[in-house]
Amino acid sequence: MRRYYYAARPGKKRSAITDNGNVVKFMDRATVKRLSLPKDLYNAIVTQAHAVYPEEACGLVAGRDGRATSLYQASNVAEDRRRYYVVDPQTLLRQIDFAKRGEMLLAIYHSHPLSSPVPSATDAAGAYYPAAVYLIVSLANPTQPAVRGWHLRRMGAWPVQALFPAAEAVRVRGRDNLWARRVATGDGMRYILWRRDRHNILWQQVVTVQEVVVVVGD
Ligand SMILES: [Zn+2]
Repeated sequence: MRRYYYAARPGKKRSAITDNGNVVKFMDRATVKRLSLPKDLYNAIVTQAHAVYPEEACGLVAGRDGRATSLYQASNVAEDRRRYYVVDPQTLLRQIDFAKRGEMLLAIYHSHPLSSPVPSATDAAGAYYPAAVYLIVSLANPTQPAVRGWHLRRMGAWPVQALFPAAEAVRVRGRDNLWARRVATGDGMRYILWRRDRHNILWQQVVTVQEVVVVVGD
């Protein structure tokens, strides 16, 4: 039986059982406040972002102790790749390879072809890896790409006794069941999300957004 568990979510499994019965433990619980990204890996991400422009590029970064050591370029398998990204499942499975080498999932990267390197409401809604750094490369100025890193942490979702999201919520572009509001906080920002499920119940969720220092160097 093939059973894999990906990067740990709170309260979920932190290990994987491979096809030959080995147990692989993920070590991605520790969060980093500073990410060191060697220049060649950074250049590879930027090159990939240019290559798929105006679609979003994406992939995984593995490493140790806050230092990136390898890059896993992914295919973006989202339906609308100009607005969203979804890392292909084969690349997600590579986590097992690097966990065996004692590396952890350090970052998940994607590009913003036209906008700044700040997480969108869609990025917040799809952030399932609280321990990973979400690296965003912006090509808004194509000759001067910009990279920033973020921790995105989803707090629990709860149903709200309301027919409509709060008046100040804005519907997320391209989504007919998701509304968001961005709120600045002392050390970053947070998104408040409202999602209407297929039973017409409105769920509210808070996603905290905190910047991680990204140092591009050798
Ligand atoms: Zn994004």
